[in-house]
Amino acid sequence: MKDISFEARIIHAPYEKPDVHKALAMPVYQSVACEFDTAEDMEEAFCGRSKDHFYSRITNPTVQYYEDRVRNVTEAFGVTALNSGMSAISNTLLTLAHAGANVVTSPHLFGNTYSFLKNTLSSLGIEARFCDLTNPDEVRSRIDGNTCAIFLETITNPQMEVADLRALSAIGHNGGVPLIADTTLVPFSAFRAKDFGVDIELVSSTKYISGGATSLGGLIIDYGSFDWSHFKALKPWINADAHTAFSTRLRREIHRNLGAYLTPQAAYMQILGLETLHLRFVRQASTCLELARRLQQTEGIVSVNYTGLEDNPFYALSKEQFGQYPGAMLTFDLASREACFSFLNRLKLIRRATNLFDNKSLILHPASTIYGSFTEDLRQSMHIKQQTIRLSTGLESTDDLMDDILQAIAL
Ligand SMILES: *Cc1c(COP(=O)(O)O)cnc(C)c1O
Repeated sequence: MKDISFEARIIHAPYEKPDVHKALAMPVYQSVACEFDTAEDMEEAFCGRSKDHFYSRITNPTVQYYEDRVRNVTEAFGVTALNSGMSAISNTLLTLAHAGANVVTSPHLFGNTYSFLKNTLSSLGIEARFCDLTNPDEVRSRIDGNTCAIFLETITNPQMEVADLRALSAIGHNGGVPLIADTTLVPFSAFRAKDFGVDIELVSSTKYISGGATSLGGLIIDYGSFDWSHFKALKPWINADAHTAFSTRLRREIHRNLGAYLTPQAAYMQILGLETLHLRFVRQASTCLELARRLQQTEGIVSVNYTGLEDNPFYALSKEQFGQYPGAMLTFDLASREACFSFLNRLKLIRRATNLFDNKSLILHPASTIYGSFTEDLRQSMHIKQQTIRLSTGLESTDDLMDDILQAIAL
């Protein structure tokens, strides 16, 4: 199957076990438990010696089919589907960390990820070390024997910062530390994280994959590239193959204990989303690039931030890593917070809503919403500005979006 395109592979991924009726679409196995013919078969399944499903908090045929499709196109070692992007992040870091460990990361993070690292993990004795990930020397100096991950977002939301993944991966690997990347802003149909040294890719599948924004979900994609032989939190899980310990602990312990597995209905919806992922991404991201160019020429807009613009400081690195279309989200600055609010209130087509990569274009003012409960000092340290608006471009035409923006700017 390796020689065919992403689009063909994502649609035609084989079932591991065909449905008894050979249904062409994977049925929704909305059943909590599966039954066994014998006690011996039951023992094999419970002890992980067979692949039979037994309980849907742990595995489920529909969810596994979704995971298999993602594994097929990413060529990953292991894929785990969870019920939100946040559960993908929390399950991963709780698999890697121990009390006394630290995570080297940036303050440029999605709001809840920041809070998870800063508040939740610190209450368990796990330190978040915030630093400038675009400065390799600083990263090197923050890593020590207790560092369990370098964690980053491939394009930070909403600052749009891009770090050099190959450089960070090399620094991490030298110090025995895996590179964990939240790749939500550019999907795996366009960006091959493995080729840039990412060991574990995390995705909020709520965004591009769900398509039409009807289901929440998260993915943990383990490339099996990291040698865990000397990794403290995974010691009991090391076996003959030193590259499997992360996925083994995740599937045998952490994900079972936290109980955040994707539900069969959501997996079904995300399988449908996967089939059109690449088409929608290319359309939405090319609209975003075109819109970014036009917004730069628009009176009343102070600046536009999109790493696909040639004058963006991250343009070259972004192009090398993510290609021509670095996602379907941009930000732009107006003169003031007041100008942002009146602009948002005048929009007629673009929806005032959070979320990213819905088929509908969505817009918000990050400082007063996602970061609204943060102090102004904290917002400033995270470079969240009162003048900034975030726009996620949907499937509308660029002309329609531009018309709405122009009438709302109403100078
Ligand atoms: C939305 C988002 C998340 C969280 O995902 P949920 O599915 O809402 O839990 C994490 N990281 C990034 C970059 C996001 O945009």
